[in-house]
Amino acid sequence: MNKLIRFTGQALMLATVLYLALAHQWYGIEKAAPIDGFCPFGGVVSFLKLVSTGEFVQRIYWGSIILMVITVAMTMIFGRAFCGFICPLGTLQEWIRGIGRRMGFRKDRELPTNLDKHLRYVKYATLILIMYLTYTTGELIFRNYDPYVSLMHFGEEFEEKMFGYSILALVLAAALVYKNFWCRYLCPLGGFYAIISRLKMFGIKRDAGSCIDCGKCNKACPHGIEVQHAKVVDSVDCVSCMRCVESCPEDCLTASVGKNRIKSQSQLATIVLGLFILLIGVTIAMGWWKAAPASNLIMADGSIDVANIRGSNTLEYLIKTTGVPLEVFQKELGIPEGVDEHMKLKMIGEKYGLKNSEGEPLEVEDFRKVVAEHVSSED
Ligand code: SF4
Ligand code: SF4
Ligand code: SF4
Repeated sequence: MNKLIRFTGQALMLATVLYLALAHQWYGIEKAAPIDGFCPFGGVVSFLKLVSTGEFVQRIYWGSIILMVITVAMTMIFGRAFCGFICPLGTLQEWIRGIGRRMGFRKDRELPTNLDKHLRYVKYATLILIMYLTYTTGELIFRNYDPYVSLMHFGEEFEEKMFGYSILALVLAAALVYKNFWCRYLCPLGGFYAIISRLKMFGIKRDAGSCIDCGKCNKACPHGIEVQHAKVVDSVDCVSCMRCVESCPEDCLTASVGKNRIKSQSQLATIVLGLFILLIGVTIAMGWWKAAPASNLIMADGSIDVANIRGSNTLEYLIKTTGVPLEVFQKELGIPEGVDEHMKLKMIGEKYGLKNSEGEPLEVEDFRKVVAEHVSSED
């Protein structure tokens, strides 16, 4: 029962984001927001831009900002509970480690202590670099390298996200033998929560008097934290998962939020997941939740953002929104009479065997060029 609530919550969160990602793949950007709009990291990297210019970074909207605010508030109370109970990529790594054990990799691989200690700082460097580059370019610069974004594209946009898919493959392969390798050393969002968790009210104390030094707490910890000999577990890498507390045979680990004792993992999982779902529900009920703007092409001043034309836009939508007639696309790109206008732009080239003027298969960039030229000729 204890593990069941956390497991169910993690499975629910993973299933929800998989559904949202698939909906975007199936129905396109006009009907289903991209997965970036459902990730707090989008809020983290675009927050500076929003505050200083009032503009969102591409693909990011209020949903990401709301998720960031909710998870920051929760981190200040419960520590990195988003990592410990909600994040789908954390869940996946944990489950793959379980599969690894069943495959015979029973012993958790660990890096040498010194290397482990220094590598843990890499996630902060990644976070600062991504925040800086996103702020200066106004684009989600990490998107094509992000294993989570690649995971949620199911092999789509392979060329564009080749690095992302490669990193994803390495992360999942590492998870077979290492516990949460990506989380411990590289994840920039984990680095962000680690910094915020300095303010947390959650804590774990160890009663040295009743400890029998069995080491089960250290073994259970997914983040390789030294619990066995700590007086107080105050590592910023702790994700509040309570696995150490649950594994202790002598009940000598006590978790609390402020002065309130947390009795079990299932109690904390219920509070964290309940609060998370409740707060998101409130923002939806209040009409604040929006994962994407009404149109990905029309800017606030009414102009067309050509760079934002996506492969998941349909030809019908492109014609309707930009005002560029079908005949212009037919003339410039060789699109045949009777083309299925409901088709996504990224599929048209392949479906009709079309090539651009350089003899390359027709890409979304070719549609952008046509729209840009037509719009500038109209000005
Ligand atoms: S460290 Fe990153 S990938 Fe790991 S659980 Fe936290 S947010 Fe998710
Ligand atoms: S120290 Fe305990 S609560 Fe923190 S991550 Fe490790 S097992 Fe989870
Ligand atoms: S699991 Fe409990 S008894 Fe065993 S080393 Fe850890 S704190 Fe001590």
